[in-house]
Amino acid sequence: MLRTPRDEALRLAQSIIDLKEKVSFCRHCYTFAEGELCRFCSDGRRDPTTICAVEAPQDIVAIERTGEYRGRYHVLGGAISPLQGIGPDELRIKELIARLQPEGVKEVIVATNPTVEGEVTASYLAQALRPHGVVVTRPASGLPVGGDLEYADEVTLGRALEGRRELAT
Ligand SMILES: [Zn+2]
Repeated sequence: MLRTPRDEALRLAQSIIDLKEKVSFCRHCYTFAEGELCRFCSDGRRDPTTICAVEAPQDIVAIERTGEYRGRYHVLGGAISPLQGIGPDELRIKELIARLQPEGVKEVIVATNPTVEGEVTASYLAQALRPHGVVVTRPASGLPVGGDLEYADEVTLGRALEGRRELAT
């Protein structure tokens, strides 16, 4: 950084400022957006009755790479982790529940990471969402356990999505 020429450093600083000013969070699904809504929520061709809940915006990138999913998303902002003091209230679960009725949601796919925290979050969501009349599913196994969705290859992730199963409570 210290060896960077001054004009280059200024350009970098300006692009960081631009990024901070332009990018905000979608008011529906909380992924990155340049306006009020992200490109998924504002795309009328995407199926609004299916929501895929993920931990972080980069998981959406991984799912989009598969080309298998045409619904909408919801970024939870992490996973339940008692060790790190993250409970359900720290995640955007209330916001997800608030979307179900107005958007006519029929299915929520819980695509949290295949880790202990991700599984705990999935079971919690199955219990919290089912009373609202939606089917709660989870991508099939086959994803590397303990891994991160973000790093799964698109074929594996695509198959896991296709083979999703309803979560038991
Ligand atoms: Zn959105």
